[in-house]
Amino acid sequence: MAEVLVYVDHVDGAVRKPTLELLTLARRVGEPVAVALGAGAGDTAAVLGEHGAVRVLTHDASEYADYLVVPKVDALQAAVEAVSPAAVLVPSSAEGKEIAARLALRIGSGIITDAVDLEAGDTGPVATQSVFAASFTTKSRVSKGTPVITVKPNSAAVEAAPATPAVSELSVTFSAQATGTKVTGRTPRESTGRPELTEAAIVVSGGRGVNGSENFAIIEALADSLGAAVGASRAAVDAGWYPHTNQVGQTGKSVSPQLYIANGISGAIQHRAGMQTSKTIVAVNKDAEAPIFDLVDYGVVGDLFDVVPALTEEINTRKG
Ligand SMILES: Cc1cc2nc3c(=O)[nH]c(=O)nc-3n(C[C@H](O)[C@H](O)[C@H](O)COP(=O)(O)OP(=O)(O)OC[C@H]3O[C@@H](n4cnc5c(N)ncnc54)[C@H](O)[C@@H]3O)c2cc1C
Repeated sequence: MAEVLVYVDHVDGAVRKPTLELLTLARRVGEPVAVALGAGAGDTAAVLGEHGAVRVLTHDASEYADYLVVPKVDALQAAVEAVSPAAVLVPSSAEGKEIAARLALRIGSGIITDAVDLEAGDTGPVATQSVFAASFTTKSRVSKGTPVITVKPNSAAVEAAPATPAVSELSVTFSAQATGTKVTGRTPRESTGRPELTEAAIVVSGGRGVNGSENFAIIEALADSLGAAVGASRAAVDAGWYPHTNQVGQTGKSVSPQLYIANGISGAIQHRAGMQTSKTIVAVNKDAEAPIFDLVDYGVVGDLFDVVPALTEEINTRKG
């Protein structure tokens, strides 16, 4: 069976969930071979094996932390040359997409970005994308070279598929460009304790209807009852009620969680563009004619100041 390379996103050996989702998808197309780079790369093998990686290729060098993406591209290219995979899968983060694009250019391959599903096809993997502000769903496959495909977080369930991976060191020679852009400093982001917006399984968002930064506390309380991330519409962000890092939509972040709860958000096309591929969509809006109700699975016509606290209380009670 053909092998499929999976680029591992990890922090000091702790593998992030989107990589485990990629392993689920990779198994539909071939045998997953994981590529883990940088500090702690060797520590990823156990969890990657639990999720179906048959091989883990590791490499650690200070270049991965000291410079931007090119050293990682060099390593992934070395892995492609060593394995001759049927496809290369990379998480659709900003960094992942840059790595994937540079790799595709280097190896002369076609690339598909922001896939939301992947299946085996007669002539290579077929990727599903949600395009043009989520108004069309397309299926496509790469017709040139080794397909390089980036996949959005939450596109597949994490499934255990225990394997005992063979761990080996990847031989990497860094290119002249590898040290072209040096990282000169790092500032850790202030932690809210909530999951990363683009990776969260549940997102609870607030819009203009929340009517003030202080009122976002009720959105945060609902999010915390569900272990969710907090999102915001551009109207709420422009009003200064919530940071731009939390904006969902065309000029914000694109999310695709299992559950998206929109509170006091009308459902403008630019907002929908960032959340329409969510698996289950719930909206709370006091206007029964609000366009958001056209795309929801469950809609509550009501005042969010009544509905959201009541929902939070009920969830907390049921959690016991
Ligand atoms: C180029 C461009 C890019 C854009 N990018 C984005 C983007 O990335 N993300 C984004 O979100 N927008 C974006 N926008 C803006 C977008 O067009 C809308 O203006 C914005 O999404 C509206 O935000 P909203 O739904 O919170 O506000 P509104 O449209 O004002 O809707 C507020 C809703 O809250 C409801 N409401 C009010 N009070 C309550 C209450 N007490 N209880 C329940 N419901 C209540 C109202 O009925 C209404 O439906 C962009 C626009 C442009 C032109």
